[in-house]
Amino acid sequence: MGPARYRAGPVLEYADMDKLTIEDLDVKGKRVLMRVDFNVPQNEDGTVRDDTRIQAALKSINYVRDNGGMLILMSHLGRPGKPEKAESDEEKAKIIKKNALLKMDPVADRLRELVGGNVTKLDAIAGPEVEAAVAAMQPGDIILLENTRFHPGETKNDPELSAQLAKLGDVYVSDAFGSVHRAHASTEGVTKHMSQSAAGFLVAKEMAFFGKVLSSPDRPLVAILGGAKVSDKILVIENLLNLVDTLVIGGGMAYTFMKAQGYEIGNSLLDEAGIEVAKKVLAAASEKGVELLLPEDTVVADAFDNGANTKIVGLGGIEPGWQGLDIGPKTIETFCAAIKKAKMVVWNGPVGVFEMDNFAKGTIAIAELLAGSDGIVSIIGGGDTAAAVKQYGLSEKMSHVSTGGGASLEMLEGKELPGLAALTDK
Ligand code: AMP
Repeated sequence: MGPARYRAGPVLEYADMDKLTIEDLDVKGKRVLMRVDFNVPQNEDGTVRDDTRIQAALKSINYVRDNGGMLILMSHLGRPGKPEKAESDEEKAKIIKKNALLKMDPVADRLRELVGGNVTKLDAIAGPEVEAAVAAMQPGDIILLENTRFHPGETKNDPELSAQLAKLGDVYVSDAFGSVHRAHASTEGVTKHMSQSAAGFLVAKEMAFFGKVLSSPDRPLVAILGGAKVSDKILVIENLLNLVDTLVIGGGMAYTFMKAQGYEIGNSLLDEAGIEVAKKVLAAASEKGVELLLPEDTVVADAFDNGANTKIVGLGGIEPGWQGLDIGPKTIETFCAAIKKAKMVVWNGPVGVFEMDNFAKGTIAIAELLAGSDGIVSIIGGGDTAAAVKQYGLSEKMSHVSTGGGASLEMLEGKELPGLAALTDK
């Protein structure tokens, strides 16, 4: 069931997967409807601040063009307001004004620079005008549709919109991993009307790596979990306990575990609802024979501030008025020793408040260890962990850095992701 079906061999070749990939498609003379992730960070005037996601899609885009196909690209951008739900004309006007900054034009401009011309941006997502423009395309042409989330049918996975989108392409390619955990018209509904739906290069790589972790990991398999709340990651922890040899827990969530073990945690982050969960996890780990590592020492601060006073304390040593913001030096040593023994590591969540230099040491130590270990397959979850690794300039040194925060978490939860399940079986 679920992602376990996305097999990957020892060298993680796409050929081992049981879903179609872009390389299985004959795109010559075909219209390729491709869902990409152009949800880029923007400047205040709407221009593109960081084009990493556009660059990342170029491999699939260029593949189609080099093989004589035409591209109809669709993506969402930001979180547009819903003018149809406005309660007054004034409110409606405001929403429309804000939404104007989420039009895809600046993205099209950047894409045009990157591919050297040939990009037409349309002001609609579907309908007769779009169909006419698509009908007039020549091999190598690229059309970028308007922000899919401008259409009320997108997030509702509206069958009518799905059918309209499907009319635009002969085949469908999914290359937006950040959106495959959502059943939307452009990620899932549309595939119901396509004869062939395949994973693009980005999505195929994600499927290969996470599929490997879930179905036949290299062992020892170590998972590192951090971040803020235990409650957010219950499902991941439960699923990982069935998979991993060692589970390393750091970050804000570790204090809820310490509390569950009866230690004082001062003003550290506490997830009340997570205490019972933590107790169950501790019991389940020992029952399943999973090694569970928690911090032995902590960098505490007297305020949530980079300039706060700090000291290092052992287990149970966090006094009232102090809060744990990073793992301590002994913990770094223990965690790193466990990680060094691994053949495969999957990491989700920073082990400290890495956004502040004084509490980033633990996260940096783990990132540097993974980056320097050729013998370890390192899989970095999206979101904050990917941001941390990128901040240290180590992304290229990891085996895989996921492009989807929510999607990579749901993969690790063992869930079936609608946008992946919808792809055509080989
Ligand atoms: P998440 O989105 O759940 O992965 O949480 C990531 C966030 O957890 C980051 O912004 C970190 O700064 C934060 N975090 C990590 N360790 C701690 C900590 N000890 N106390 C408070 N926040 C933390």
